[in-house]
Amino acid sequence: MTDGGIGQWLSGAMRETFGVILPTQCAGCGRPDDSFCAGCVAALDPHLLVWTVRGPGDDVEARLEVSAALDYAGVVRAALIAFKDGGRTGAARQLARPLQAAIDHRLALTRTGEPDAREVALQQVPSTRAALRRRGYDPVGLLLKKAGLRSMKLLRHRGGHTDQAGLGAKARWQNLHGSLVADRAAAGLDIILVDDILTTGATLLEARRALTAAGARVLGAATVAHTGRRASGGWNPG
Ligand SMILES: [Zn+2]
Repeated sequence: MTDGGIGQWLSGAMRETFGVILPTQCAGCGRPDDSFCAGCVAALDPHLLVWTVRGPGDDVEARLEVSAALDYAGVVRAALIAFKDGGRTGAARQLARPLQAAIDHRLALTRTGEPDAREVALQQVPSTRAALRRRGYDPVGLLLKKAGLRSMKLLRHRGGHTDQAGLGAKARWQNLHGSLVADRAAAGLDIILVDDILTTGATLLEARRALTAAGARVLGAATVAHTGRRASGGWNPG
């Protein structure tokens, strides 16, 4: 076989392989298309909203501000479900866009009035080991990577707590308390938390609790989307 022959054979094989593994449906609406159709790409344009979350019993000072780029509904919801639980990792590129916008938004708000502020580190809410096993990838980590960003690795799950899905706000709160541990390397760092979906904010508040206990300062959080659901501790658009 000549060089050209091998090349042709390879590109043919690649086409065949890619024909099988490339998605043929839009991850947002399911219409035949590549990763996303134009309409769904437009639906992922960020519309930033700031939410304030705090735990039951926390005082006003303990509130945490969260920048969220999209409403978790319609195409956004379908795309995030396809990405997280449908194996559509190719959707990461488009979903990284609103996450980056939320992070930029939070950074801009956080730095207002603090011209000599220290550098801010990003810390994602880590996947549980069970979720990592089930998916084979870490959704938030993948979005950050697509955005050209990286999370610190300061948080880990202590283990032994049940999955949050299907629990109400108060039950989530009780279930989560003490579930995360932060590395001592967090001491002295200024941190912005990153997650995919803001539901009640309980996970973000637990992440902040763990990081604060390790000596970090959590300045706020950024998420791709928000569900707009109220938590018992109060969470309102700010
Ligand atoms: Zn679509």
